[in-house]
Amino acid sequence: MDNKLGNPQKTIEIIQKYEFAFQKKFGQNFLIDPHVLEKIIRAAGLTKEDMVLEIGPGIGTMTQYLAEAAGKVIAVEIDTNLIPILGETLKDYSNVTVINEDILKVDIKKLAEEYNGGRPIKVVANLPYYITTPIIMGLFESQVPIDNITVMVQKEVAERMQAGPGTKDYGALSLAVQYYAEPYIVANVPPNCFIPRPNVGSAVIRLTRYEESPVQVVSPKLMFQLIRASFNQRRKTLQNGLNNSPELSFSKEEIARAIEQLGVSPTVRGEALTLKQFADLANIMDNMQK
Ligand code: SAM
Repeated sequence: MDNKLGNPQKTIEIIQKYEFAFQKKFGQNFLIDPHVLEKIIRAAGLTKEDMVLEIGPGIGTMTQYLAEAAGKVIAVEIDTNLIPILGETLKDYSNVTVINEDILKVDIKKLAEEYNGGRPIKVVANLPYYITTPIIMGLFESQVPIDNITVMVQKEVAERMQAGPGTKDYGALSLAVQYYAEPYIVANVPPNCFIPRPNVGSAVIRLTRYEESPVQVVSPKLMFQLIRASFNQRRKTLQNGLNNSPELSFSKEEIARAIEQLGVSPTVRGEALTLKQFADLANIMDNMQK
C-alpha cells in the first residue's frame, strides 16, 4: 500500500503536508523503524480474532500494522491536531476506530464490552512516557479484561517492571506489575528509531496478564500500602518504614510481631522481600485487624 508509514521519508512528508508541530507535553516521539514495528506486532501475538486498544496512535504508523494483524483496532489519541492526519493515513483500514480523548479519562472496560463483547483485549502502544505508570496501573486496577499489554516505555521503566528483590531497580512498580502480569523485555530501542529523538533510551516490554495472581492475598489494598511504605523509605528497615507510614495504623509491637511471624530478620529492609513475602506479611497483618 503506497500509503504505508513506518519510514522516515513518509513520516516527514505527512508532517510537512499538515504542518504538524510536535507537542512535547504529549510525549510525541513517532516511530520510524519498520523492524521495531514488526517486532512489537510479533511480540503482541495478534490474530484476526483480537481487538487491540492502541494508546496514542500519533500519525497512525503502528495503527496500520495493527489493523493488518488484528480483527479490530480502537485507537485513542488526545491531540486534536492529529485527527485529520489519521483520517488520511487510516482511510484504507475499515477495522480502525479513532477516538479523540485522553486515555486516562476513557472507560476502557466499557470499550472492551462494546467492541469485544467483554472478551479479553490486547493493548499495544508506543506510550507517552510521562503517563506510563498511571496508564499501566489503571489498566490492571480497573478490571479491564486484558490478555496482554505490549508497550514501548522508557528503558529504565521497563527494567524496573522486570526487576527482582535485592536489585537497585526493584521497587513498588516491579511488585505492582508482577502481581498482575508476567513481564518480558522484548527489545531495547535506541533514540534514532524515533522522530524527534527522545533523550532517553526505550524498550518494548510485554506484560502477560495472569488469570490468577501467583500470590494469594486477602487484601491487595493492604499489601500495596505495605509495599509503598517499604519503598518510600528505601534505606530504612522494613520495621521503621511501616512504623512511619501515614497510611498504616499498626502499633510498633504489632509490626515487630508480624515481621517475626513472617520469619525474617527484624532488621530486614523492604527491598529484600519477594512478592510472596509481601503477600504473606499482608495476610498476617490483615489477621491482626480482625
Ligand atoms: N503511536 C505513535 C508512534 O509510534 O509513532 C505515536 C507514539 S507517541 C510516543 C505518543 C502518542 O500518545 C502521541 O501521539 C501523543 O499525542 C499521544 N498521547 C499523549 N498523551 C495522551 C493521552 N493522555 N491520551 C491519549 N493519547 C495521548
